[in-house]
Amino acid sequence: MKRIGLFGGTFDPVHIGHIVAAEYVLDACGLERVLFVPTRIPPHKEAPDTPAEDRFHMVEVAVADRPGLGVSRVELDREGPSYTVDTLRYLRTRHPDVRFAWIVGADQLLGFPMWKSPEEIVSLADLIAVVRPGYNEHKGMDVVRKQFPRAALEVVEMPRLEVSSSELRARLEAGRTVSVLVPQAVQELIRAKGLYKRAGRVR
Ligand code: ATP
Repeated sequence: MKRIGLFGGTFDPVHIGHIVAAEYVLDACGLERVLFVPTRIPPHKEAPDTPAEDRFHMVEVAVADRPGLGVSRVELDREGPSYTVDTLRYLRTRHPDVRFAWIVGADQLLGFPMWKSPEEIVSLADLIAVVRPGYNEHKGMDVVRKQFPRAALEVVEMPRLEVSSSELRARLEAGRTVSVLVPQAVQELIRAKGLYKRAGRVR
């Protein structure tokens, strides 16, 4: 059975931590593909200022030259908050022959029991967590295992990259470099579209 990884997130902007995570999971878990799934409205954090289409476009150019990686519009084209369970229900119905794995950073594990219908999520997909500096993946795994003993859960090691979109937004707004941390093509798009400029800011 084909196994496809889904990597949900705000991607505001997409960065090297996301790309390394997707590449390492693709390799370690022998997946057919990993699809980034940009959220329209993240249910568990503040709504991003960056329009969903721009966040999608940044991911699109980031993965364009990476075989095995892709991006899905599934959450962008659905009204309301982007609940993972709804995305998985929809994809499972449309692709009954595919086994899906939902990919998260280790920081997401502790909060996973508070997601909408977590029990159903783990019945619809495997759960793959990548390590992230500052977050204890063992603790996160224990929380999920204890509450959802039937979940197919694995941790994938990757170089621990201390980078986050919020930190990169702050750098971009301050006119500082994000070189290497954000793919070149994404940096060009940010520049061309004038993203991450504080409204009213004199430059
Ligand atoms: P923000 O700083 O705005 O909260 P973020 O950098 O965490 O953003 P998201 O788009 O929210 O980025 O993350 C999407 C997914 O990628 C989440 O599951 C998150 O845990 C994971 N992730 C983000 N950054 C890293 C990183 N440096 N290493 C491993 N996983 C990461």
